[in-house]
Amino acid sequence: MNLYKSTTLKTPPPAGAHAARARTWIAENLTDRLRTDRAHDTPATLDELIAFERALHAAGFAGITWPREYEGHGLGPREHLEINREIGRAPMPNAVNSIGKELAGPIILAVGTEAQKAELLPAILTMQHIWCQGFSEPGAGSDLVALRTRAERVADGWRLNGQKIWTSGASKSQRCLLLARTGRAEDRHRGLVLFAVPMDAPGVDVREIRSIDGQWSFCEVFFNDVIVQDSHMLGAPDEGWNAAARVLSIERATNRMYRSWRFQSELEHLVAACRSDRRALGVLRPYMRQLAQIRVEIEMLKGLVETLVERLMTGSEIGPNGSFPKLYWSEAHQRFARIACEIVAQFPAVTEGPLADVRARMQDIYLASRAETIYAGTTEIQLDIIAKRILNLKRAA
Ligand SMILES: Cc1cc2nc3c(=O)[nH]c(=O)nc-3n(C[C@H](O)[C@H](O)[C@H](O)COP(=O)(O)OP(=O)(O)OC[C@H]3O[C@@H](n4cnc5c(N)ncnc54)[C@H](O)[C@@H]3O)c2cc1C
Repeated sequence: MNLYKSTTLKTPPPAGAHAARARTWIAENLTDRLRTDRAHDTPATLDELIAFERALHAAGFAGITWPREYEGHGLGPREHLEINREIGRAPMPNAVNSIGKELAGPIILAVGTEAQKAELLPAILTMQHIWCQGFSEPGAGSDLVALRTRAERVADGWRLNGQKIWTSGASKSQRCLLLARTGRAEDRHRGLVLFAVPMDAPGVDVREIRSIDGQWSFCEVFFNDVIVQDSHMLGAPDEGWNAAARVLSIERATNRMYRSWRFQSELEHLVAACRSDRRALGVLRPYMRQLAQIRVEIEMLKGLVETLVERLMTGSEIGPNGSFPKLYWSEAHQRFARIACEIVAQFPAVTEGPLADVRARMQDIYLASRAETIYAGTTEIQLDIIAKRILNLKRAA
């Protein structure tokens, strides 16, 4: 099944109409408090971010490709891309519920029962349920099939026991997309099962971990004799790996489709701020060629994303092709963040105005970018996927 298959509109709006509507809406609704191109004494609160994200959906800019019966907007991947370009161009905060909207939702659409779709999908879009992704474990990251969290059959459903780590946003989530195993750890890909676990179920214990950027987003999640019902299982008991692999290919390819356009707007923000101040322009000059190279890479990235959207339009699966944009974006963005941070570190010591704003933004981007070559599969793992599944190269025995 193509997760992004378009529902044909009877009278499609003129080309570019969705983009124009999104641009106007964002200009009217993105308040100073939420803009990421301003230095803030106090960051936007979770409630403010949730309210903005709920309004974004109500205006038609989230759940773009989901069927209307589940509160989606029934459009296709081309419209999704059109709207996401505008989202990327604006200094918008990252979504609180991107795991719900971009990972859990598509997989529920693909393998969920009718009852699960009706219950879970609208709750994601209206922000009643924020989701986290419970895949990684202390001994299972790149080698995800080494995971040990157990799902054991019991009379009233399944009993879950185990530990997850690096679970982004778990402490503010209502549901966890959990990958567990029904058999032995040696069974590897076999016997894996995917669940939608309510985070308030007895036995779920969440502990926050502070990250380098001062955020409390990461968590460890412990499952101690947590009982879930069959109705919480997504897909068949032995099909967890196929479903998880699909989640990962989406995560690498189309999740936050706006990234290349956001990247461009970050670069343009840096250049514009430097042009506003003679001293900063002097700092930027020695970096001109490196920034020009980054600008070329952004164009390449946009091309990779647009090619994937074309594949989706023709009903093709993403598969290993998701590794191209994931690898290219994370490496290029990390390089940009390092150069940008070097530049802003040489700015005069101002505490307000364009230079202070861009310095705060570039420092945040730098810290966040350190993780970009790790999450959703590390650089080495993306290169392995491309070598094995696209070039058909096998390691020597
Ligand atoms: C910001 C952030 C958010 C995250 N959010 C989530 C989340 O919400 N949910 C979730 O489940 N997980 C999440 N993760 C975890 C992430 O998926 C893992 O960190 C990642 O898969 C790497 O696993 P690991 O940390 O165990 O490192 P390891 O797998 O131990 O890798 C360590 C190093 O060894 C290299 N390596 C490993 N295997 C090979 C190999 N076969 N060949 C060559 N090199 C290899 C890796 O590339 C890496 O450089 C997040 C991570 C980060 C940084």
